[in-house]
Amino acid sequence: MAAAEDWVARTAAQVREEGERRHPGEVPTCASGISPSGPVHLGNLRELMTPHLVADEVRRNGAPCRHILSWDDYDRLRRVPLGVPDSFEEYVGRPLTGVPDPCGQHENFAEHFKEPLRESLDLLGIQVTEISQTEMYTSGAYTEQIVLAMRRRADIGRSWPGTAPSAPTRCRPMRAMMTGRRPRSTTRSGPTARPAAGTTPP
Ligand SMILES: [Zn+2]
Repeated sequence: MAAAEDWVARTAAQVREEGERRHPGEVPTCASGISPSGPVHLGNLRELMTPHLVADEVRRNGAPCRHILSWDDYDRLRRVPLGVPDSFEEYVGRPLTGVPDPCGQHENFAEHFKEPLRESLDLLGIQVTEISQTEMYTSGAYTEQIVLAMRRRADIGRSWPGTAPSAPTRCRPMRAMMTGRRPRSTTRSGPTARPAAGTTPP
């Protein structure tokens, strides 16, 4: 297939062009987001692979590109996943990082489910820069923007008639875009670990 017809090549070119237009001189960012609320499942692969292919294509063309993995670990626990004791019902509603670890070997519930996904990323050779949304929210990183959004709620509603103000940010397949954000967390790389198990959606 000719490069011009390949969606990866096309999107990678758009990333570079838009990155230069919006944030000249900065490294463009492709973004994935995952809520670590249960076992790894196929949808996680889709979420990660799309931005990965685009970021990889940008790099193949000789330009730097960052792929961030936003851990939505400040999401609330909505239901107890398969394999976790029913007694965890009492934690429904808490942030995933505020729920105890089911196995006793991780810092919390979110970390328990991050580990097998990280292992899968290593096996696939997908390099990401991790961001914990618990850290971002609790550090106040979003406070100014949240207050601004609340003040301008009516304007936001008018911008996307018929949708909730938060709806556009949920379009994750199209999150291969530039944010200009500089995450503080670590970059992971390299195939090392054992296969991850689990096929149940969260
Ligand atoms: Zn655990």
